[in-house]
Amino acid sequence: MAFLELNGITKYFGRQAAVNAVNLSIQQGEFLTLLGPSGCGKTTILRMVAGFEHPSEGSILLEGDDITDRPANKRPMGMVFQSYALFPHMTVEQNIAFGMHIQRVPRKRIEQRCAELLELVGLGEMGKRYPHQLSGGQQQRIALARALAIEPKVLLLDEPLSALDARVRVTLRTEIRRIQQQLKMTAIYVTHDQEEALAISDRIAVMAKGKIEQLDHPEEIYSNPQTVFAATFVGTSNQFSGVVESAEKGLCQANGYTLHVAPLSSSFDGKRVLLVVRPEEITLHASEGESLGNGTGNHISGVIELRTFLGPFTRFHVRIDDKMLLTADIPSQQARGYDAGQRVLLTFLPSACQVLPVD
Ligand code: ATP
Repeated sequence: MAFLELNGITKYFGRQAAVNAVNLSIQQGEFLTLLGPSGCGKTTILRMVAGFEHPSEGSILLEGDDITDRPANKRPMGMVFQSYALFPHMTVEQNIAFGMHIQRVPRKRIEQRCAELLELVGLGEMGKRYPHQLSGGQQQRIALARALAIEPKVLLLDEPLSALDARVRVTLRTEIRRIQQQLKMTAIYVTHDQEEALAISDRIAVMAKGKIEQLDHPEEIYSNPQTVFAATFVGTSNQFSGVVESAEKGLCQANGYTLHVAPLSSSFDGKRVLLVVRPEEITLHASEGESLGNGTGNHISGVIELRTFLGPFTRFHVRIDDKMLLTADIPSQQARGYDAGQRVLLTFLPSACQVLPVD
């Protein structure tokens, strides 16, 4: 039995289904991220789990109990919002203690728990401050402590890092993950930031238009996307659209190139497909004269249009024809000597091409 189960959850606003027949099973202690573009229904799912919205159809089960009709204040959920939503007239300690007062937790226990939580979020000295005396990142740590104070069974986080600057975002996402793992807390996290989702999650549900497109571990989502949307929304990718010429031989005609892919099942013969190649799968060679070993790989010639140093790797935008620019990420130590204006040969293995059917 899953810890938290969403069965055929649909939510209509007017005649529009913001969430459309979503099934989701979450294990205890799992960190699951809902990832997708603005308006795809992520927040609506979270709000239904929290009890702020009632599903139009479907049910929500927590440890086997149907909680679909249970009001929000009777659900063991802690929520963290993008806007922190701290009470401005209360100190940090009072903010953290708020839910515990409502639950009539004894005063001594509240004090002890506040101190523990402040330590946990790394703000041991800040209990007497007011929210306006804290940075955005510190306020969000307090919001997290407040959500955890009531010892929820599920922690719900709605784009908690979106309002913070890039450096704080990265630090705090690591902290959220550390705390979640330390407490073995079940968490649902909403974001539209694919890098954040890949970094923080046990599993990711990639969403589009109210539906889950793919539900998988981050590595699988990245290296084995199952739909065109998942491939294009997560990570940077080079895309060729074309037709499978021979599934058995793994041959495709795409954007005027004959490309080798891994052998496919015969059902792919003649199908329209999108070929996706990640930038780090591409290798650069100085010239077409260079020996490239046996001929089973893919070779495409082009001219470097832009070179961007990104620290551990260097990103090259290579113009291969009027319409196509390919992106190649090369470890920076191997990128020396390549510069804008230079003609290069790009190679990638058949196994580096993800082949996705296009409807
Ligand atoms: P964002 O990242 O922008 O918050 P999201 O993926 O979380 O997007 P939702 O907030 O769940 O998306 O919204 C899904 C759809 O439902 C959107 O089209 C939105 O306009 C609509 N919607 C959400 N809440 C309401 C509401 N209370 N009344 C009417 N329409 C709503």
